[in-house]
Amino acid sequence: DETWPRPGRCRIMSVANQKGGVGKTTTTVNLAVALAMHGNRVLVVDLDPQGNASTALGMERTSESRSIYHCLVEDEDLRELARPVPDVPNLWCVPATIDLAGAEIELVSLVARESRLKRAFSAYDYDELDYILIDCPPSLGLLTVNAMVACEEVLIPIQCEYYALEGVGQLLRNIDLVKSHLNPELAISTILLTMYDGRTRLASQVAEEVRGHFDDLVLKTMIPRSVRVSEAPSYGQSVMTYDPASTGAVAYLDAGRELAFRAQNLVGNR
Ligand code: ADP
Ligand code: MG
Repeated sequence: DETWPRPGRCRIMSVANQKGGVGKTTTTVNLAVALAMHGNRVLVVDLDPQGNASTALGMERTSESRSIYHCLVEDEDLRELARPVPDVPNLWCVPATIDLAGAEIELVSLVARESRLKRAFSAYDYDELDYILIDCPPSLGLLTVNAMVACEEVLIPIQCEYYALEGVGQLLRNIDLVKSHLNPELAISTILLTMYDGRTRLASQVAEEVRGHFDDLVLKTMIPRSVRVSEAPSYGQSVMTYDPASTGAVAYLDAGRELAFRAQNLVGNR
């Protein structure tokens, strides 16, 4: 089996787009599994109160469960909240529970409210993990700001649909604000085109427009629309394990490989 290069130090990536339903969670989960299957040690942090990434990674939760909420608001150790993902070696997940919905408000009155996640990451030594992938909620509030302060790279999934770039301008302005006030290391490193339907002219027009805009930040691999991708979460699985031969799984594998092999010097260019 092929192994992929491991970065010299942990790559912390926020998967963000304030538009809902563009494939943030699907991308986080499947790239994480793809990287872990190829020898990288990966932590997924579910920062969306909906908890879809946690569900897709088979994290059982009750109303008593400890989650990223307890880390952000109650200072619990992140490492103690990270759980191994069933059947996928090298992969851990800090789940989200619905408490997190209140965190946007509760964080407001806390000290260093924008950097609580960053501080939580110091529970890990730098050489213990190869990737931390943060699944952001569909908003630009304090949770997403915490992700942007804690990471160095932003991965933006863009759905190949009408209005694909709608809202992206606002996201870019927010990234710039965080970069100039809170985290000078922050950069958009990766754009991934999702739910691509090769039969429509629209999808290829959108893909072209996005590539015109973001140039070599856009991965060559595009994720096709695939029923198997949308079925997998209801089995508590990624499509990588649910149906590894499906077009969606193969595409996420290709995207993961590109991510892993990509020149590190892309980071920080923009
Ligand atoms: P977000 O996290 O941005 O809200 P999701 O990853 O949850 O988006 O995706 C939104 C919906 O689209 C989910 O039901 C998901 O299963 C489905 N979906 C995502 N990617 C694909 C794909 N490539 N093909 C088919 N369905 C997809
Ligand atoms: Mg999501």
